Amino acid sequence: MIECPWCNNQVQLVNDICPECKHEVLPEHLITSTFTDHTDEGNNKLNLKLIISKCDDL
Ligand SMILES: [Zn+2]
Repeated sequence: MIECPWCNNQVQLVNDICPECKHEVLPEHLITSTFTDHTDEGNNKLNLKLIISKCDDL
C-alpha cells in the first residue's frame, strides 16, 4: 500500500496506476513520502538507507 500523491488515498497500485483516481504514480512521485510508514516499496527503503548513511557522516 502507498499513499497516492494525487488523491491521497491509501491504494495498491495496479501497473503503476492508482485504482482510485486512475493517475499514473511513478516512484519519483513518492520520494516526498519517504518519511512516512510506507516502506514496503523497495525504492523507499533504498532512499531511507541513503538518507541514514548521509546522517552518519554529519
Ligand atoms: Zn490516486
